[in-house]
Amino acid sequence: MDTSQMTWDLEALYPDAEAWERDFERIPGLAEKFASFRGRLGESPAVLRQAIEASDAFDRLSEKVYSYAHLRSDENTADNANRARVDRVQSRFAELAPLETWFDPEIMAIPEERMNAFLASPELAFYRRSLEELLRERPHTLSEPEERLLGSLSDVMGAPDRTFEMLNDADLDFGRVKDEKGRSVVLTHGNFRRFLESGDRATRKRAFRRLYKCYGKLRNTFASTLDATVKRHAAQARIRHYDSSLAAALSGDNVPEQVYRNLISAVHGGFGPFYDYMKLRREVMGLDKLDMYDMYNPLLPACRREYSFAEAERLVKAALAPLGEDYAQKLSLAFTQRWIDVPARKGKRSGAYSGGCYDSYPYVLLNYDSTLNDVFTLAHELGHSMHSFYSNSSQEYHYADYEIFVAEVASTTNEILLFEYLLENASDPGFRAFLLGHLADEIRGTIYRQTMFSEFELDMHEASEKGTPLSADWLSERYFELNKLYYGPEVEPDPLISLEWARIPHFYYDFYVYKYATGMSAALKLAAGLRSGDAAGREAYFGFLRAGDSKDVLDIMRDAGVDLATPEPVGDALDYFAGIVGRLRRELGK
Ligand SMILES: [Zn+2]
Repeated sequence: MDTSQMTWDLEALYPDAEAWERDFERIPGLAEKFASFRGRLGESPAVLRQAIEASDAFDRLSEKVYSYAHLRSDENTADNANRARVDRVQSRFAELAPLETWFDPEIMAIPEERMNAFLASPELAFYRRSLEELLRERPHTLSEPEERLLGSLSDVMGAPDRTFEMLNDADLDFGRVKDEKGRSVVLTHGNFRRFLESGDRATRKRAFRRLYKCYGKLRNTFASTLDATVKRHAAQARIRHYDSSLAAALSGDNVPEQVYRNLISAVHGGFGPFYDYMKLRREVMGLDKLDMYDMYNPLLPACRREYSFAEAERLVKAALAPLGEDYAQKLSLAFTQRWIDVPARKGKRSGAYSGGCYDSYPYVLLNYDSTLNDVFTLAHELGHSMHSFYSNSSQEYHYADYEIFVAEVASTTNEILLFEYLLENASDPGFRAFLLGHLADEIRGTIYRQTMFSEFELDMHEASEKGTPLSADWLSERYFELNKLYYGPEVEPDPLISLEWARIPHFYYDFYVYKYATGMSAALKLAAGLRSGDAAGREAYFGFLRAGDSKDVLDIMRDAGVDLATPEPVGDALDYFAGIVGRLRRELGK
């Protein structure tokens, strides 16, 4: 089938470039109108409300203008007009950014008693939640001169992260390594994963050892950039009166530390099925012990079948049928209204995403290449887009944009529904086993591995807060211990894995990756509920899709039936994983 015509309809956003120009020219006026409220926020609830509305009007149009520029540019990044539009948007935003920074501090500076009266006023009833969110930061906000001082140092404080990036992405040279066919290939971050997916064990081992030996040579430098970053997190938490780096990192989402610690303890309680999976992997591969370079090679022959886009559409729609009639209707708009840019083209941005803004379709960019993976990507990105669709159509602009914490839940739920649907309808046992193996690897990578990372992050920060310097030895020893604990008795790891901490960029974003694990756990539970056909459960799921940012993330999840304040959802996810491993074992006759 010819997919070359299957492009997205950006004319629905702006009919032509001139219409975009007109909006682009309106932005400075909106910025000025907003800025005119400076110094006046404490006057009255009505004035504060008008200021918030002016701020929203500016943000909303800015996002629309920005979205169009970016979506157009991603269609063809080599096009000069496209690039010029993005450059103009970026430089205009940079010019206008200083006009915005006063807003939050000025709200926080309104004396508490006066603010309480404001919050009780009907004029501000709608904005009460977002104001309270902001005021939660008040005890952690410093005086104006102190904030200025800190602000002036922010570039310097970010230096270790940048040094890590430069070292890791630009200067580090892994040299060359031989591939399966004996050809000498330059080893890069990009192809390392492909080497680990090789069916030839010696090739995997060569690439693994080559890469980590290079990290080993620079281990002290990597330790120093990581140590400085962790120290910065701790210092900033202290300066802002948080109990710990963890508390500071979780406060934005209003997530209690217990959620983080529950995740770790639930995974500790669920090592059994993971060890069991490692055992099965070892048996299928016919090895005495697994090594760390035996984790990504496919257990079973890959699925070579091609899926036309029409078939992908049909499969995704059928798999998402448990979401009901309304969802199905809205989902079909993605195809009839042309939300999706399907084919790969020269100049088009690579990869896939769901994008857009409050005033646009929730667009999807694909580079569809007819593989099974591409079908999953379609289900995943449409999960994001449908989440945006429901939130945007149920919430006012002010509360529509959902948080990262819940951002992967709808997309992962869709993927799981597609897995289950394909599994149920697969008559070929080989294909069933392939699907089960694939899902097992997804859960392993998202729940077990990200929780191991989360635990390592917590250990690093707690040690550093107690004054322990994070030397290369300390980091490697601790990492190796955790790796042994998580991978269990079937794995006899090459000691070089103890250097893996050196190459993980996420360790520089404080306490971020746990959200992958909690998000997937939530998705597994929600998908199971949807498949059971329980009508109340489905309604609760729509409550989540429609919630946007109108509630705290934990409340959104709890109301949808997933209480992440307890270890139960993660425990259930690991039970589900145990079931997948059991089914895989039976399919393989082991
Ligand atoms: Zn996603």
